[in-house]
Amino acid sequence: MSHQEEALNEALASLGLRRFEIPPAKILTTGFVSVFQVVSDRCYARLASMADEYEAPGSVAFGFAEHREFNAFAQRGRMDVIGFYTTVVRVMWSVTNAMMGIREMFPWIDDVDQLGEEQAPHANGELFFVRPPDQPAPNFEPVRGRLATALFDVAMDFTLMHELAHLWNGHVELLHRMSPKPIQEMHLNEGECLDLPLMQALEFDADSFAIQKVFARVHRENPFQDFTKGLLKDHALPADGAHTASWFFTWVAIYALFRSYDEASACADITRRSQPPAALRQACLLPTVAAVAKRQGWSDLSMDAWMTHATMAGLEAESAICRLRRLPLDSDSYRLAWQGPAFDQIEKYLGVWEQLGPMLADTKRGPMEPEDAPVVAA
Ligand SMILES: [Zn+2]
Repeated sequence: MSHQEEALNEALASLGLRRFEIPPAKILTTGFVSVFQVVSDRCYARLASMADEYEAPGSVAFGFAEHREFNAFAQRGRMDVIGFYTTVVRVMWSVTNAMMGIREMFPWIDDVDQLGEEQAPHANGELFFVRPPDQPAPNFEPVRGRLATALFDVAMDFTLMHELAHLWNGHVELLHRMSPKPIQEMHLNEGECLDLPLMQALEFDADSFAIQKVFARVHRENPFQDFTKGLLKDHALPADGAHTASWFFTWVAIYALFRSYDEASACADITRRSQPPAALRQACLLPTVAAVAKRQGWSDLSMDAWMTHATMAGLEAESAICRLRRLPLDSDSYRLAWQGPAFDQIEKYLGVWEQLGPMLADTKRGPMEPEDAPVVAA
């Protein structure tokens, strides 16, 4: 067994979990690969691009835990370890695909010139198998499928970057002073960890890190650029050159992720949570995005224009999820989260930070060089 597998297994064992084995590719029939394989490859590539310490194969561990919770974790042992529970992948892949099945959503996608012969949904059981990303696309690729994949990709990237922040910003090391367990999203390890307000501030810190990394990548790769013209047909959005659609859909993906997390917490009867509900969680991140986009020269949008993008995107995702769940849309309570509570919440985080800052001061920042560093061929 490699050091990497050992590190992952150790982290999983400390949570009482089993490793999820990625199903093999269906080479003989469809040639498709498991969506878990795609996520794993992407996450490893993304981690390698983030730090020299992660570049050598076997220097950082990523994997999946077989479990029904909507959860993810970060752990630092002999190397940095990040794990997603399988449900996060399954739910986000299903939700982003199911959203595209709602014909009232993004109606421009059904423009006659966008329709093709391959409109049929995936056959049962095949939803989690996809064309390998390195294989050329067929001549006609339905727009809805491409959009679902791009939204899913952003949601997975946010999840990865959030866990990375727990490692790089000293959170895991700090919590290790109380418990050797990994830091995880869904449970607070009551009695073993920091008080709730401190945990909430750490989560906000991780969200702020993740949202900056996600928007940086979206600015660089502009994955939704092709959708701009169609999007502007039925959305009165402030235009921002080539990036208009990428800003909008990034918020759609982030909100759908937060909302799915709320749903899972409600189902599991978890009331003491380290993250605020989706609308407030999204609203708290807006000032960070607007500030970093301005500082980096990514965007000319004003704070108000950013707010229009984020709220329209959040409401679009909220209404899609309500439709899928056959729930009424409560747009007022969505909007309410944007009218003051976000600033109160940020103030709360900053207040707690006076206590947290000194505690985090002597923790190691950034990636960890693995113990028994793998030998790299010269
Ligand atoms: Zn977290």
